[in-house]
Amino acid sequence: MAELVFPDELVGDGPAGWDVTGELPADLLRKLGSMGLLCAEVPARFGGPGASSLENGELTAHVGRLCSSLRSIMTSHGIAATAVRRFGDREQRRHYLGELTGGKLAAVGFSEPGAGSDLSAMTTRIEAHGEEIVVTGEKRWVTASRYADYLLVLGRHGEDAAAVMIPADAPGVTIEPVPQPMGCRAAGHSRLVFDGVRLPVSTVLGGGRQSLPLLFTTALSYGRMSVAWGCAGIVRACLDAAAEQAATREQSGKPLGEHQLVAGHLADLYVAEQTVTQVCRGASEQWDAGSPDQAVAAVLAKHVAATQAAQAAAKAMQVLASWGADDGHVVARAYRDTKLMEIIEGSNEISRLVLARHVLDRRS
Ligand code: FAD
Repeated sequence: MAELVFPDELVGDGPAGWDVTGELPADLLRKLGSMGLLCAEVPARFGGPGASSLENGELTAHVGRLCSSLRSIMTSHGIAATAVRRFGDREQRRHYLGELTGGKLAAVGFSEPGAGSDLSAMTTRIEAHGEEIVVTGEKRWVTASRYADYLLVLGRHGEDAAAVMIPADAPGVTIEPVPQPMGCRAAGHSRLVFDGVRLPVSTVLGGGRQSLPLLFTTALSYGRMSVAWGCAGIVRACLDAAAEQAATREQSGKPLGEHQLVAGHLADLYVAEQTVTQVCRGASEQWDAGSPDQAVAAVLAKHVAATQAAQAAAKAMQVLASWGADDGHVVARAYRDTKLMEIIEGSNEISRLVLARHVLDRRS
């Protein structure tokens, strides 16, 4: 595989402004999508770069360091591509992966008003009517949906479950942007309503009749890896900003970093950066080796990365103080964005429950 190179020049100094306006340039997203960079693990035979988890992880960290809104969109798009690869039939893989590596954008809807941490409470229905299906339900906080061409939606399908690729402009689809998200403000979160949306059965991945836990575990596992690596990028940005400030700003006659209490923050930031990098690399190595423990490794990586990133952002804010307190500043963004990383793709509490279950299962 050719080395993945992210075009930093297309992002430039945009992220601070995007965070304030709550919007990313859609043409940038389409350009990155058509370069295959939003779902880099898609193999070359489907038009993607065919990156390993480790390579895609470092790419994701690079994007996370620049802009968590952009990284969030990348995560959603990558989840959609993963679901198509895993559950789509041959023709669906050819068609949809071609679209997703060709500049079309995708978002993924699991969460509903009554189904947050507990996705088994999902009520969205995907009903078969001859050669058509009808989708009825509501999803909330769907990242990237404001920009998306496709909404990958999970729902009930008879006694089982299915994932369906819904064109965002299909009749009966309403996309209502979240007005003022506290973080990742340009990631295009929206509430989605599906009011009897009629589509051909060919939009149901693999024909449906799948197990709901298998569908969401597969999708969430990719999402967890992506969020973990995105957090690695945030921690690296915080470490860089704090180190620069501590080395260059003087107070009480010496650089901030020479004051022991500030030096302690720098040490903690370095520990966080090293810890998150190691846990992400370990998880990606398990993915690339096809380890049976890869799903747990993804939970561990996401949990460690999100909690470390939230602490690191708070420490970096403390080192920069007023110098990092402008709304769009990389550290101010990190401070708000990292709190959300502790909630999504399995909250801290849910991650700990999964890890505890793993510990107990290993004994038997
Ligand atoms: P709840 O499930 O109501 O949980 C509230 C609190 O209770 C949490 O602290 C939780 O950890 C805790 N809790 C719940 N159940 C248990 C339990 N059994 N044991 C212990 N503690 C528990 N959804 C999508 O489908 N697609 C997206 O693209 C998407 N993007 C998002 C982006 C952002 C920025 C945010 C904030 C949310 C996004 N979501 C998305 C929704 C997200 O997946 C949910 O917010 C998440 O699953 C938690 O659900 P909830 O918010 O309803 O909280």
